[in-house]
Amino acid sequence: MTATAELFQPTAILVTGGAGFIGTNFVRLILEESEAKVIVLDALTYAGNLPNLQGLDASYPERFTFVEGDICDAKLVAETMSAHEIDTVVHFAAESHVDRSIDGPGAFIQTNVMGTYHLLEAFRDQVMIRDVPCRFHHVSTDEVFGSLGDTGYFDEATAYDPSSPYSASKAASDHLVRAWHRTFGVPMTLSNCSNNYGAYQFPEKLIPVMIFKALAEEPLPVYGDGMNVRDWLHVDDHCRAIWKVLRFGRNGDTYTVGGDAEKTNISLVKTLCKLLDRLRPRDNGTSYEELISFVTDRPGHDRRYAIDATKLKDDLGWKPQFGFADGLEQTVKWYLDNQEWVQALRDRAQNFSRIGLGKN
Ligand code: NAD
Repeated sequence: MTATAELFQPTAILVTGGAGFIGTNFVRLILEESEAKVIVLDALTYAGNLPNLQGLDASYPERFTFVEGDICDAKLVAETMSAHEIDTVVHFAAESHVDRSIDGPGAFIQTNVMGTYHLLEAFRDQVMIRDVPCRFHHVSTDEVFGSLGDTGYFDEATAYDPSSPYSASKAASDHLVRAWHRTFGVPMTLSNCSNNYGAYQFPEKLIPVMIFKALAEEPLPVYGDGMNVRDWLHVDDHCRAIWKVLRFGRNGDTYTVGGDAEKTNISLVKTLCKLLDRLRPRDNGTSYEELISFVTDRPGHDRRYAIDATKLKDDLGWKPQFGFADGLEQTVKWYLDNQEWVQALRDRAQNFSRIGLGKN
């Protein structure tokens, strides 16, 4: 069933982290599907990539603005909210890579916890004070729930039990957003989603790394026994979910978002190899699967994540539009067609060398 009425209509949206993977896809969706103004605030860390937003200022000169800056810069955040008469924040900005959080947790606490705090405070001071309808949407992860066994699903009632510095910092930010709602009346929604895949993903995450390494004829590193399970969600489906929640979601509510596509890491990598065998066969005529190499597991590696998105489906009428096979093929084709984009980021991804073993 579909939600009956739009509860909130965003007019000026501050998208934090809009030059990152999901933020980029969200900004493009909103500019196409709505009349709202979009102001991206992004510090352009190693994961932020301005070319992701290329052409948007020319295509949407009245509606798109890019502001380079840190969400921890309270003055800049306040000025940006005020200058653009922001009524909506969609908060993606984060340090997002679990392996990096093992080697250097400090940046995760700073951006994910302190940055969220500064945004919430500025939202109270600059947005709520104007007494217009407003919303703060916080984008979070299913990793806050820890690990599942062989059965069961995460949903909105699952208790928090984060395993990594990354997921602990995201859990802290979720708690801040809910506390600012209960204590200060900040109108908010929150979503916890599973692993995203799609265009513009920084090439340190599983799918782009595997594609890139396969094409370079390098070993394809699979952590542990490869049997860790993730529920894969196409980034476009995720962005459509956020856009629904923002307009139709109930103030104060949380929604879990998943793609109904549970895969072990090893089966995902093998599927990628088969796709590449078909779309870009190796010169020696053998399968890319020959490059698969099992490596030391990540410390604290959660075994299984899976999402029950019934609330989002039943209450807001959302469902994933991508089947996993089609979504993955479209994604692989995007990376094959955009090799220049991937190459330009290769150095920043530390040449895909192994990190996150907790030894430095
Ligand atoms: P990403 O790493 O690709 O992008 C993060 C963006 O935030 C970058 O553009 C970066 O420059 C910016 N940023 C980082 N620190 C900043 C700061 N201090 N100030 C301003 N900007 C800053 O991340 P992503 O994969 O697009 O994830 C976006 C959000 O979604 C994150 O909050 C993440 O926790 C959440 N999430 C991601 C996934 C996934 O599968 N990618 C799954 C669940 C939840």
